[in-house]
Amino acid sequence: METFDKVKWMHLPRDVLIGHGVLEKIDMVCKHLEVGKRALIVTGTHTRKIAGGRVLEILSDAGYEINLIEVSSINGEKIEGVKKMAAEGKAEFMLGVGGGRIIDTGKIASFELGIPFISVPTIASHDGIASPRASIKDKDRGSPVSIETHAPLAVVADTEIIFSAPYRFTAAGCGDILANYTAVRDWQLAHHLRNAAFSSYAAALSEMTANMIMENVKELRKKDENSVWTVVKALVSSGVAMSIAGSSASASGSEHKFSHALDMIVEKPALHGEQCGVGTIMMSYLYGENWQRIREVLKEIGAPTTAKELGIKDECIIEALTSAHKINPQRYTILGDSGLTYEAAERLAIVTHVLD
Ligand SMILES: [Zn+2]
Repeated sequence: METFDKVKWMHLPRDVLIGHGVLEKIDMVCKHLEVGKRALIVTGTHTRKIAGGRVLEILSDAGYEINLIEVSSINGEKIEGVKKMAAEGKAEFMLGVGGGRIIDTGKIASFELGIPFISVPTIASHDGIASPRASIKDKDRGSPVSIETHAPLAVVADTEIIFSAPYRFTAAGCGDILANYTAVRDWQLAHHLRNAAFSSYAAALSEMTANMIMENVKELRKKDENSVWTVVKALVSSGVAMSIAGSSASASGSEHKFSHALDMIVEKPALHGEQCGVGTIMMSYLYGENWQRIREVLKEIGAPTTAKELGIKDECIIEALTSAHKINPQRYTILGDSGLTYEAAERLAIVTHVLD
């Protein structure tokens, strides 16, 4: 008799607080989570002024024993530094206050120490704010793509603070969310052709999240705090979909491979979400989907849709398209195992107006 041996373990954020001025409630969140009294704040020089310092103040006033460390970039050495400081201060939990690199540094360090992590984003540029994944471009740690860590135990996203950051970041966040469309198509394809594990629940949530952007373009165009609110909610929802999926497959497919390839080729890449948005236009074309609509929405939101707007040379776009399939090859996508030929890549970029 065949035995039943399926197991599914989902790690989801427990408390998610989004909205105007919610940073002031950080002590209540920590209290509610019952994560202890000693913590380490990971922040940056700039983000310390914006929010990190305030978090330190609030938690110290509330009787927490808090240390703070500033990190400027993400690499193995910085992560070890954070872990060392957390261990010295006997930190029982960690908070990441800042942009993607800071959140990811805190996420990886806390994961490796086995202590809870609270995500306090100051920009809304990508879906790592609530996901169990972290990006680190460090050869020692294996992957230029993303690694599995743990989901933040809580997310505290203050729309007032995020709204004060340049709008470009929020527009990039929309690109990272629209990527869910092609990511889910790739995931289905991998399921059908390679028997990849597939979760219809995660796929549906991921697509629904992308719909939130498509359906709210008019609102998003206002570029006000309400736009930030919509994007942050969608980013959290996309991160939760990844937790349900148990991988990044619901939010990262061929369009992300294209972006990761660009990161490796170009000296000064554009923002992750911006590159993923442009990748989504092109991969939607390959799927015979409505790529024009994706392009229109990105344009309306104010995100780049061309190589020129990304500030990337035409030949780098073609090179990224022809080499993207080599990134994370175990994840099967529409790019297949052999990728696009030079001619096909060139045509794809031209018909979708990425190149003129
Ligand atoms: Zn992404």
